[in-house]
Amino acid sequence: MMPEADLIATLAARAATLFTAHEEELTTLDRAIGDGDHGANLRRGFDAVASEPLSALPLGEALKKAGMVLVMKVGGASGPLYGSALMAMGKAADSDASTLAHAAFDAVKARGKAEPGAKTMLDVLAPVAEALGRGGGIAEVRAAADAGLEATRPMRATKGRAAFLGERSIGHLDPGARSSALLIHLICDVLEGK
Ligand code: ADP
Ligand code: MG
Repeated sequence: MMPEADLIATLAARAATLFTAHEEELTTLDRAIGDGDHGANLRRGFDAVASEPLSALPLGEALKKAGMVLVMKVGGASGPLYGSALMAMGKAADSDASTLAHAAFDAVKARGKAEPGAKTMLDVLAPVAEALGRGGGIAEVRAAADAGLEATRPMRATKGRAAFLGERSIGHLDPGARSSALLIHLICDVLEGK
């Protein structure tokens, strides 16, 4: 394992690369049921996070700083939602993975006033937190993220911009669920040394 101080800086740099690579894909998903800015929002947000000197900070402070940068730099709904997740994880930084995942889920749920089933990122974050809560390992976490993402396809959105489409939101993956699944796989990759 790499030293904790470098973990968040490494994740930030990898996330910036990840969302540059997946910007188009997320834009296309958000164009179908939103306003088409999710790819640009996350690329811009994580570029800004990656340019912060995070490795100089203790783990909890690095997470809080990353969260604050996302809140400030991302205009869309996803910035404050991911930002509050990271800030909550920063406050719980000394806890185990399950507690961290539940802290992130609870923060997004509170900030977005949503529940799983509304076709949002919560549909990925909830099963991931559950998998960790029952002691699942990395393979279970990855599978939970993938199943949670796929489950958003037949859902009718009741929160966020996609809710304006009503029935017409059915049949599309939720962009925020896709970006959450990408982030979960990224964290798994880094923890597995990939
Ligand atoms: P915006 O919707 O403001 O354009 P983004 O496109 O960056 O912001 O993010 C859209 C994503 O944010 C959605 O796909 C959904 O996953 C997530 N989202 C939107 N509103 C909520 C909410 N109230 N609770 C949880 N997630 C939400
Ligand atoms: Mg959008």
